[in-house]
Amino acid sequence: MNEYDSSRMADLLNSSHGYERTERAEEADMVLLNTCSVREKAQEKVFSLLGRWREIKEKKENLVIGVGGCVASQEGKMIMQRAPYVDMVFGPQTLHRIPRMLDEVLDERSQAVDISFPEIEKFDNLPPPRVDGVKAFVSIMEGCSKYCSFCVVPYTRGTEFSRPFDDVIEEIVGLADQGVREVNLLGQNVNGYRGLTHDGRTVEFAELLHYVAAIEGIDRLRYTTSHPVDFTDDLVDAYASIPELVSHLHLPVQSGSDRILRLMKRGYTSAEYLSWVEKVRRHRPDISMSSDFIIGFPGETDQDFEETMKLVDSVNFDHSFSFIYSRRPGTPAELLDDNVTLEDKKRRLSVLQKRILNSAGRISEQMVGTLQQVLVEGPSRKDPAQYSGRTENNRVVNFDGDESLVGQFVEVRITEALPNSLRGAIMSAELKTVPAIDNFTPTLKFV
Ligand code: SAM
Repeated sequence: MNEYDSSRMADLLNSSHGYERTERAEEADMVLLNTCSVREKAQEKVFSLLGRWREIKEKKENLVIGVGGCVASQEGKMIMQRAPYVDMVFGPQTLHRIPRMLDEVLDERSQAVDISFPEIEKFDNLPPPRVDGVKAFVSIMEGCSKYCSFCVVPYTRGTEFSRPFDDVIEEIVGLADQGVREVNLLGQNVNGYRGLTHDGRTVEFAELLHYVAAIEGIDRLRYTTSHPVDFTDDLVDAYASIPELVSHLHLPVQSGSDRILRLMKRGYTSAEYLSWVEKVRRHRPDISMSSDFIIGFPGETDQDFEETMKLVDSVNFDHSFSFIYSRRPGTPAELLDDNVTLEDKKRRLSVLQKRILNSAGRISEQMVGTLQQVLVEGPSRKDPAQYSGRTENNRVVNFDGDESLVGQFVEVRITEALPNSLRGAIMSAELKTVPAIDNFTPTLKFV
């Protein structure tokens, strides 16, 4: 989500001030730090990076330094108290106001702070996204109203707010027009999407998927992230009726212990989670599953952790984003006794990560010899003589190819499984070639 927000900031500053991106802070007129406060460690990094930028500003006094994202939303003016050389502070919902704040800083040499939540205006004030490549993120909703006891997101990004349906479709049609073939629908809980249409109807997430899949040119659909309580039967059925929807599902469970799930205020049991996975696997037996896990939540015992491991074994996860619990200010869990020792937390995390890594290795081995649909993204990073793309279950595959394949779906026979990627050979390329961008007018198949 932050990556997406950052690219929108770059688009915005390009259209308002003609700014171009640079990866080197020393070359920049303005440096922006887009922050995350989900865990404490990310938050700590903010001030150490700001310290380095301060040294650059000492040599280049006109350098404008801005801090955005959730740490900015949480700390507001406090950031400037601790780092007085920071010129502007904005939250996730006010990033569209950066150009105005920049003018204020440049014209009046004053500091600007805006961390309010005017969510309705944001998307109306951003230019159409500029595309770089064949895949794109599309933000469809913001914020979260689930109030899990450990999580800071509802307080930093606000409650759930869905972008209007027509706007989402228009943005994706525009992306298809620029050669995008795969979209990843973004939000804290995308399956909580409830977007209004121009005539006042509400479109829910599963229905949105049908419409997006129908856009000419868009042939692969992903979404990040969903919440199990909003995993409706309509969404399960989408796996039967929408071939564009990848056979990979990221559905964060957090823990396999019902006692911990209750303390986390997740709203489901481990048995319910397993039943959602089973229902999806009725339509897609080979679907690869991934999840977020929080290890060492206050009060987690060895028995609770064993239940998490039991669930891990029954689902056979392919990937995880797993972290030690981080106490967040202002959340209900902050008041719980954080009584699991660091040693236990680290040991449990390592057991879980090794188990999931082993199962990912096994899944990669099982893919050897199979045919996989791969969207060709460009030359391989390690060997530019080779080309590279991703399978539906998000593995990088390298193979012999050429530039003409970029943006096409090809069938690749997997020949070797390596620890972080696969190798393969192209068996067949798409019959339909992607029309040249200039004369490509995407149409909606049934909207
Ligand atoms: N909406 C999804 C859900 O909760 O089902 C995930 C969105 S959340 C912002 C991303 C992930 O950050 C969570 O799934 C959780 O694993 C992790 N996370 C959030 N708060 C955390 C905390 N206090 N300590 C450790 N991990 C945390």
